[in-house]
Amino acid sequence: MTTSRKLVAGNWKMNLLREEALALTAEIKGMMTTDVSSACQIILFPPFVHLTSIVQLCSDNTRIAVGAQDCSEFSFGAYTGQVSAEMIKSCGATHVLIGHSERRALCAESNEMVRMKIQQALKSGLTPVLCIGESLAQRENGLAFSTVNHQLEEGLFSLPATDVAKVIIAYEPVWAIGTGLSATPEQAQEMHAYIRGQIAKHIGDKAAAFSSILYGGSCTPENAPSLFSKPDIDGGLIGGASLKSRPFIDIVKAIG
Ligand code: PEP
Repeated sequence: MTTSRKLVAGNWKMNLLREEALALTAEIKGMMTTDVSSACQIILFPPFVHLTSIVQLCSDNTRIAVGAQDCSEFSFGAYTGQVSAEMIKSCGATHVLIGHSERRALCAESNEMVRMKIQQALKSGLTPVLCIGESLAQRENGLAFSTVNHQLEEGLFSLPATDVAKVIIAYEPVWAIGTGLSATPEQAQEMHAYIRGQIAKHIGDKAAAFSSILYGGSCTPENAPSLFSKPDIDGGLIGGASLKSRPFIDIVKAIG
């Protein structure tokens, strides 16, 4: 898959049995040919156990990439239940989600762990998709921007500029994930512009202009066109609406 600023990713989380996952992938693959302009690229993030099958199913379509929902911060060893970035790479996947808010909340992932995972991903040749975003309490207390900046500073900006430039960012306000309450296009644009500005400080304006910054949080076919029309929103990371082909493809179409 060629790198493009504009893309839509589907995070299936812990959903879909094998046959369901394969059927959804086949539907999406068909619709990518019939319904979607050739400029659009997508990434599917199935559960680990379906990775190899879905990579195989998509291997003849250069516009569909496949990634894992997490990777270990370690290379190998006695870490029962964990999966290394290199293992993911060896299955043919190309991307990995890192620091999703559910993992930060449910698995106590710190920014330090997130940084180590990004390093593992890059070392293995995977493209990390780093998820950041504030909670409702943080937004209500005027801490949205400082929270996001802290996540970037600790999780990403200690890495060399050449590595920072390889990372896709997903801004996902925690209060918008799975709640039906999306950020407004203006709220999302304001934060995306801020994130791009912070990236620019570390890697320069020109390189930051090529960074992909996706929006995630209750994205639907209805709100995607207005969100994606904003200059600093390069696409979306989609949870619930990525579990059915029609709404997912309609969101993909909104990136033009
Ligand atoms: C997500 O979990 O990454 C997400 C954006 O979920 P949803 O679209 O369901 O809000």
